[in-house]
Amino acid sequence: MATLFTKIINREIPAKIIYEDDDVIAFHDIAPQAPVHFLVVPKKEIATLADVTEADKPLLGHIVFMAQKLAKEQGCEEGFRVVMNTNEQGGQTVYHIHLHVLGQRNMHWPPG
Ligand code: 5GP
Repeated sequence: MATLFTKIINREIPAKIIYEDDDVIAFHDIAPQAPVHFLVVPKKEIATLADVTEADKPLLGHIVFMAQKLAKEQGCEEGFRVVMNTNEQGGQTVYHIHLHVLGQRNMHWPPG
């Protein structure tokens, strides 16, 4: 059973895609929590950050690298926040790992 984000990768569900390569896709969040809010998603289906293996380390580096590159391209030169919600208590709702990138507003700490 494909995940929701694999359906976006396969163009079965529309999304506002801002970047794609062989390993990663990035698209705007459907319910943005900031003026800029997009997700960086590995094409490999990994359910949660707690499920990654040693072999996934280059892929994780790639999504973090793309997060900062795309944040700047999306106008977040002043700063941005990256978040990876993990499992139920971490607030995760889609079980295909993804990095949230939020920007163009002041962020608060601690987060909710
Ligand atoms: P999580 O709650 O797992 O950290 O993040 C899942 C994110 O996916 C949420 O911010 C939610 O708004 C977003 N999302 C859920 N369904 C869709 C969809 O169909 N399209 C897009 N672009 N984003 C989605």
